[in-house]
Amino acid sequence: MAAPGEPSFRESVDMMFNRAVALMDLSPGLEQKIRVCNSTYTVRFGVRLRGKIETFTGYRSVHSEHMEPVKGGIRYAGNVSQDEVEALAALMSYKCALVEAPFGGSKGGLCIDPRQYEEHELEQITRRFAYELIKRDLINPSQNVPAPDMGTGEREMAWIVDQYARMNTTDINSRACVTGKPINAGGIQGRVEATGRGVQFALREYFRYPEERRACGLSGDLDGKSVVVQGLGNVGYHAALFLQREDGCKIIGIIEHDGGLWDENGLDVQSVKDWIVTHGGVKDYPEATYVENGAVLMESDCDILIPAAMEGVINLHNADRVKAPVIIEAANGPITFGADEILRKKGAVIIPDMFANAGGVTVSYFEWVKNLGHIRFGRMQRRQEESRHQLLIDELERLSAEKGLGWSLSPGFKEKYLHGAGELELVRSGLDDTMRTAYGAMREIWHGRNDVTDLRVAAYIVAIDRVAKSYRSKGL
Ligand code: NAD
Repeated sequence: MAAPGEPSFRESVDMMFNRAVALMDLSPGLEQKIRVCNSTYTVRFGVRLRGKIETFTGYRSVHSEHMEPVKGGIRYAGNVSQDEVEALAALMSYKCALVEAPFGGSKGGLCIDPRQYEEHELEQITRRFAYELIKRDLINPSQNVPAPDMGTGEREMAWIVDQYARMNTTDINSRACVTGKPINAGGIQGRVEATGRGVQFALREYFRYPEERRACGLSGDLDGKSVVVQGLGNVGYHAALFLQREDGCKIIGIIEHDGGLWDENGLDVQSVKDWIVTHGGVKDYPEATYVENGAVLMESDCDILIPAAMEGVINLHNADRVKAPVIIEAANGPITFGADEILRKKGAVIIPDMFANAGGVTVSYFEWVKNLGHIRFGRMQRRQEESRHQLLIDELERLSAEKGLGWSLSPGFKEKYLHGAGELELVRSGLDDTMRTAYGAMREIWHGRNDVTDLRVAAYIVAIDRVAKSYRSKGL
């Protein structure tokens, strides 16, 4: 439900789309074809739990089939609605186009608060929901490939892939019907961390350029930058952890569903996460100041704000109080259309969701390719690469000894050089490359056109242009 005075999530996405197409040269017919959501399937199914039948409502929305399969997560939350899944499916179409993942856009959701159910009950519910979608090809390796989203993870994906395999016993590609699976069920190294890792790569890329730093009034790289994160779930936790451990960021605020934590000197992300896992929230965490109305921490002084929980959290009611010069949308749609306008007028730079959280679908793409290839990345090359490197080291050492040159390699060099890339290294490298290339495409439009003043419009222009080209080549 949208807050009073705000457009719905779906309307907000359309309004952002409209800002971009106004600057493009598309025929009104094609523009409308790209904007609309192709179809939304609503299913209501019953599951017998605790002695009585409970009815659940789920959705699978397909926004655009300019490329197939279509791709998009499945969300479990009490407030899932048709409007929300359609907005998220549209964002998936544009996101996949921006990062050149060859998929159309889709999204699914189930109205459920997963915290209210035991694991075996969730399995029953998930299998039943999956059954309803599989029998209509709304889960299928070549048609529609879901992934985790809010409230779902590897565990749910493992149940879904097993359910698909039971219903399609002769499909040799059954593992490719869903991504974000555990490794033993056909997953890929680095998928769990991928969205947070992508947020880190996006920020690194942004801070690499002097023009970008000038645009937000900050100097230097990420080292020492103060960060506030909302939502320490899959995306927020990994982003915050990597930024703290690998880039020297200071995480001064963490906001969760039951309040916020604050420490000017920096919170220990892992320790807060451990507390949440054990206690179900951040309340009573002993090593920081607790704020009951956590959302106000989004309005505090910090260099980077990372909303990583849900949509619509920065809206007409609080946008003018948000002070961060850089906001990176790790969640989907955390800034409403109206809030976006207020923040831009104030001079804040917004790194848009379509780019910022694309790490998940990028690594999902790698997982899908791995499943279709039936082989782990690096399996053929790793030892061969290592033995070629060994040859070079042996030769250098032989030359040094033979000629009495007294060369010695720097400490640690040999181990690093000899180490052939395994799946995790390859996935991270592919993700880094994808984020850099996508950022390059956006920044070319952002800096290259006088009528484009922000990264979101630039992202939409790149994405819509690619989707339009696909439709045109299909004869539309
Ligand atoms: P998650 O369920 O793992 O984590 C969400 C976190 O937000 C939880 O810790 C929850 O307690 C917290 N939260 C809920 N309500 C809150 C509130 N009012 N204030 C503060 N915190 C609150 O979900 P996730 O997978 O990390 O997804 C988060 C966002 O990122 C969603 O918008 C999702 O669509 C988007 N996203 C996720 C992925 C992915 O790979 N998981 C990929 C792309 C985008």
